[in-house]
Amino acid sequence: MIKEQPKSAITTTTNGTPAVVVDEAADRHLITQSYRNLLHSFKTPLDDKDLKMLRAAYELAVEAHKEQRRKTGEPYILHPIEVARICVEEIGLGPTAAACALLHDVVEDTEVTLKEIHAKFGDKIALIVDGLTKLDGLHNSESPQAENLSKVLRTMLMDVRVVLIKLADRLHNMRTIKSMSDKSQKKIAAETSYIYAPVAHRLGLQKIKTELEDICFKIQNPDEYKDIARKLEEKLRTRSEYIDKFINRLREIFKDVGFRYRVIGRPKSIHAIWKKIHTKFVPFEDIYDLFAVRVIYDAPREWEKRRAWEIYSYITDHFQPVPERLRDWITTPKSNGYESLQTTVLGLDNKFVEVQIRSERMNDIAERGVAAHWKYKGGSKKEDADVYEKWLQRVRETIENSSGNAIELLADIRSELFTEEVHVFTPKGEMKTLPEGATALDFAFSIHSDLGCMCRAVKINNRLVPIFQKLHEGDQLEVITDRNQKPTEDWLQNVVTSKAKNRIRAALKEEKRVQADFGKEILERKMNSLKVSLEENCDMLVRWYGFLNRIEFLSALYLGQVDLKKISKKFKAEGNLLVEREVAKPKVQEPVKMVVRKNKPENKPEIIINNEPGSYYQYSFATCCNPVQGDDIFAFVLAQGGAKIHRTTCPNANNLYAQYGHRILTATWGNISKSDFLGHLVVTGIDIGPGVIQQLTNRIYDLGINIRSFEIKGNGGYFEGHLGLIVVNTDQLQRAILELRRFDWVSNVSRAD
Ligand code: MN
Repeated sequence: MIKEQPKSAITTTTNGTPAVVVDEAADRHLITQSYRNLLHSFKTPLDDKDLKMLRAAYELAVEAHKEQRRKTGEPYILHPIEVARICVEEIGLGPTAAACALLHDVVEDTEVTLKEIHAKFGDKIALIVDGLTKLDGLHNSESPQAENLSKVLRTMLMDVRVVLIKLADRLHNMRTIKSMSDKSQKKIAAETSYIYAPVAHRLGLQKIKTELEDICFKIQNPDEYKDIARKLEEKLRTRSEYIDKFINRLREIFKDVGFRYRVIGRPKSIHAIWKKIHTKFVPFEDIYDLFAVRVIYDAPREWEKRRAWEIYSYITDHFQPVPERLRDWITTPKSNGYESLQTTVLGLDNKFVEVQIRSERMNDIAERGVAAHWKYKGGSKKEDADVYEKWLQRVRETIENSSGNAIELLADIRSELFTEEVHVFTPKGEMKTLPEGATALDFAFSIHSDLGCMCRAVKINNRLVPIFQKLHEGDQLEVITDRNQKPTEDWLQNVVTSKAKNRIRAALKEEKRVQADFGKEILERKMNSLKVSLEENCDMLVRWYGFLNRIEFLSALYLGQVDLKKISKKFKAEGNLLVEREVAKPKVQEPVKMVVRKNKPENKPEIIINNEPGSYYQYSFATCCNPVQGDDIFAFVLAQGGAKIHRTTCPNANNLYAQYGHRILTATWGNISKSDFLGHLVVTGIDIGPGVIQQLTNRIYDLGINIRSFEIKGNGGYFEGHLGLIVVNTDQLQRAILELRRFDWVSNVSRAD
């Protein structure tokens, strides 16, 4: 991904750094050094066969990439070597995966073919390298990114290592992303947070997921990142001292236990802290669990659980636990394999501390996920313990049932990636695990697709509820069916599992096919009355009425959405054919074109798209993020023509960049205009009574800013207000934020997304 192919040995980097003069001896030294490093990263000694295979892969890759350099200026081969090292050291993969990592860019970027790899290294390695090679010839595809990702996912089903190597590749590219242009950084970051970080999460690679999210966050929200990093830095000293004291206290408490353990305190990631600030509207100062304390203990497999509770009881003998923060993921592991007993206690000086209790095995799995999981496989007594096998099975079903549309598939896979989940029960007491946000209808489909299709209503805990009801932890459900029930379009918006979505789509398609059959009979009668042939005129009519295909046209006909009287008015029969009465040409649907307008519409701020001043795309502002003059923005070209202007921090930006990167254009604000913009603020604070609204609005009016909307909700002594302000630019909005923050009863003011 980060690469270029210079013609000569001397190369210039594109970001203005001085030309790199190649010193071959120094390069060679660097390369052999990092290869040696890779060999050292294996924990168990390699046998001769493995060493030979690695050596062969290394030599082939060095030779193939010898003319290439990375944007950083260093020899390209250092990238695959580093990816291999990450695979071994940070993910825990073996020599075969390391060889594949060394070869991962060879087929895509050099003369070497897959055939040669196959001849030299055999089936397994060739399969994995093929999975890692991007598809080409995707120029007419709606989303090449999505096509490539779905290829990786398909190959993953044959060998999970494909996706793990891909993650290592992405991780190294993210670690060295500084040398890329701003736009590429944003695009890569969006793709990474849209799919790679969730995949890492799903496969239990907690450390890698956290690092990816932090780098993405730094690229996507640089100001907020710096802000939190600075505050964290300030607090770190006092906070680490506190944690050290707390850990020492735990050591005293544990002094008589008869097993080995270690206690560590880790600061939480910047992205995790930001998420908390953002979703819960708590100011940084109020987040106490900036650190998590981890107690990691030794125990034979069959004693792990009781030992965790033993430790829990030691701790809670001395510190007051917060009951609603207790999580037992040992009895019911998360579906990405995560096991841990977790609680929050009121620590020293009455400050909250999150404590995670887990065995060495659980800790290994929590950090390295699927790769560590294999290591311990077989030790488990439960045969259904293989959470990854189960998940892969679900992905397999999703792919097999998909319509072949890569973007839809990617969205479906994503819904399988999120591991926040609810546990619910069948009437017989059997537990079902569903993703968070799943509805009663998802539950019905999870049991059987027929049950889903005929689902009329659902009883939750013996009370009748609508089928779109969201599920809660511990719900007991009973599905009520009706033979005449049929899935409808709106069902699709009210399920989250890919199984349900696929079944509903299939049912709707089937339904449409049946309607089209009826529609065809209607058209047949009409054609007979005009004494012309249906077969020879149907496609012309499809186009004339402006439909995409026969099925759409004929089903619309059945549903009464097509006015057949027009046919006799506009056409006459000539032999078997219908011919238009006027000479006018038949209406053919124009292929989709980008509309470019040269005229600047009145009263609209000027936006320069794609660095082309003076040429104006027909554009409008996205209502999902309401850009205000001065915001960082980008343009998204719409399929029907024109462009929408979004803020770079728009909640939909990731999605757009990741799936339709080719439709994103740069956008900047042109001449300063006097236009009005709508900016949204969220204000939270302590509810001081009836004066809140008046004081807030007065201060806004004092700034000469008009208020378009104001909504306020109070809850337990706190309030949350949503303000819509009419402003000319971000400076004005910023001033409003600063002014409102000056009330000491206001705890936070921020832009709403
Ligand atoms: Mn690569």
